[in-house]
Amino acid sequence: AKSAGGNRYELADPEADARVITRHGLTTALPAALDRGEFFIEYQPLVKLGDGSVRGAEALVRWLHPQHGVLGPDRFIPLAERTGLIVPLGRWVLEESVRQARAWQQRTAGSGPLRVNVNLSPCQLTHPGLVSDTVEILEEAGLEPDALCLEVTESALIGADDDLLKPLRRLAEMGVDIALDDFGTGYSNLANLRRLPVSVLKLDRSFTQGMQQFPADPVDLKIVEGIVSLAHSLDLAVTVEGVETGAQAEQLRLMGCDTAQGWYYARPGPPDRLHELALMDATG
Ligand code: C2E
Ligand code: CA
Ligand code: CA
Ligand code: CA
Repeated sequence: AKSAGGNRYELADPEADARVITRHGLTTALPAALDRGEFFIEYQPLVKLGDGSVRGAEALVRWLHPQHGVLGPDRFIPLAERTGLIVPLGRWVLEESVRQARAWQQRTAGSGPLRVNVNLSPCQLTHPGLVSDTVEILEEAGLEPDALCLEVTESALIGADDDLLKPLRRLAEMGVDIALDDFGTGYSNLANLRRLPVSVLKLDRSFTQGMQQFPADPVDLKIVEGIVSLAHSLDLAVTVEGVETGAQAEQLRLMGCDTAQGWYYARPGPPDRLHELALMDATG
């Protein structure tokens, strides 16, 4: 009777079935997609709040699926993590982004070096090839390690032991910046921050969203102020994401945030647009 009940439920919910089928379809299509070159990267500018100059960009992966069109990372990164494809996919994103950053630097010579931020999945962190792959990719492209920032989510590092931190420490010693992504969502012990080899806190979008209403939520403002002063006292830079209005940008600048990212400046876009934006602000 139990299993019949289960069957009835599934039959009564064709939408859930469709989701399972789609999901399964995406899962089996993932590895071939990498071989066929169906992934591409959009870059979203990172802007220095002090003077509005473009400092670099975050690489955000997309999948141009032959049937479903462009799929955002939320649709396939979790699948890639479950199936292990995230390791070769993440390596491809790193390779492509590093090569792109080198190209920007060559084309914008003199206007200040452009840097690139790349997201790392927790599975990549525990993969033994992370350090050697990264070194090889940087060397092959001829990019300085300090033009690369690897973004790791706060939740991936909660309770991290030394084995997990070791590869990040080695990368940090080489000059690669490590950013703590989605900061403020993981309830991590703030004192723990000193133990982590990070140089940037990336404040989660939920904080900037709380500032969007007018007047801004005073509690959100106090929290952001507190995080910024804590970060600076630990020698960490603060990047804010999800900045959608000029008023937010000004508020965040006044609160001492260092770098901003969001639709107010630019949506994620093709690599050439980043290079144009950087040249534009170099020439005024
Ligand atoms: P994230 O690292 O927090 O990236 C920022 C997300 O916020 C991006 O979504 C970006 O398009 C979006 N965003 C930027 N500015 C604004 C804004 O002003 N307002 C709003 N509402 N949204 C904004 P996207 O591209 O869909 O990426 C989602 C997540 O997928 C990323 O979140 C990241 O965790 C993951 N992801 C993207 N690319 C990669 C990758 O190459 N590897 C891994 N492991 N994860 C990736
Ligand atoms: Ca990120
Ligand atoms: Ca550095
Ligand atoms: Ca984030």
